[in-house]
Amino acid sequence: YSGSVRIDLHTHSNASDGTDAPARVIADAALAGLDVVALTDHDTTAGWAEAVIAAQDAGISLVRGAEISARSRGVSVHLLGYLHDPDHPEIERLGREAREARETRARDMVAKLSADFPVTWDDVVAQTKPGTVIGRPHLADALVAAGVLSTRSEAFETILTPARGYYVPHYAPDPVEVIGAVLAAGGVPVFAHPGADLRGDIVPDSTIEEMAAAGLAGLEVDHRDNSPAQRVRLRSLAAALGLFVTGSSDYHGDGKPNRLGENMTASEVLAEIEHRGLLKVLRS
Ligand code: AMP
Ligand code: ZN
Ligand code: FE
Ligand code: FE
Repeated sequence: YSGSVRIDLHTHSNASDGTDAPARVIADAALAGLDVVALTDHDTTAGWAEAVIAAQDAGISLVRGAEISARSRGVSVHLLGYLHDPDHPEIERLGREAREARETRARDMVAKLSADFPVTWDDVVAQTKPGTVIGRPHLADALVAAGVLSTRSEAFETILTPARGYYVPHYAPDPVEVIGAVLAAGGVPVFAHPGADLRGDIVPDSTIEEMAAAGLAGLEVDHRDNSPAQRVRLRSLAAALGLFVTGSSDYHGDGKPNRLGENMTASEVLAEIEHRGLLKVLRS
């Protein structure tokens, strides 16, 4: 019956900053007992094709998505877009600009890091496959490879935090613009980890109200980075604004402690996402 369907709507592969290939993420999702998994790499859909084949092989249903970078008055906002046309010009442009901004920013951070640590841009690229959307996790990998640190998480807790001078932010469009592009491309926009106040600043209710007015569909409430107090706030805000609520792992392979299926989404919510989305959930 529907209550037993296990659905995880937020994972990363090595198309962005996960540590495993898309096929491996999907196969591991099936092994973890999930019935439905979404692949949502940062600012790219390059992993979709491989994930589609892997989902068929593993007998798991696949939601094609992406986690798109935005920024609201200096605060980083991540928008999950589900079941959109990746070739729609508006969403294609946003993805391309985000990837360019991320690379410029990563090069700037490496320039700063290289003054104090034995890491170069080539060392960072050596940690990735061609076409990877490069982020701080890959800078962490280069620091680990150089013997400066032992894990990604250690790097995020020390050298790579915004509190240290090596951090550089990257340009990203306002969330209202991203929501418009996701909707134009036939997708369903969901605000990822909106209450992640341990990782940095979060946006106020008024910004979520603006996003809802622009067509935001849901809030990712059940996510390990949203504290219990934030989940209470977000659940009531979602109810007041007519937004649905999702839960997800934000799996990054070995790079983060997050485990597949540690938070899940109700089947009624997945049905609503599929109802609104242009693409189909690929059933297996
Ligand atoms: P960036 O987007 O380049 O600023 O890097 C932040 C991203 O790193 C977030 O999307 C996190 O999910 C990801 N990340 C991967 N591994 C870790 C980790 N061990 N600790 C914190 N963030 C991580
Ligand atoms: Zn990430
Ligand atoms: Fe995120
Ligand atoms: Fe994520």
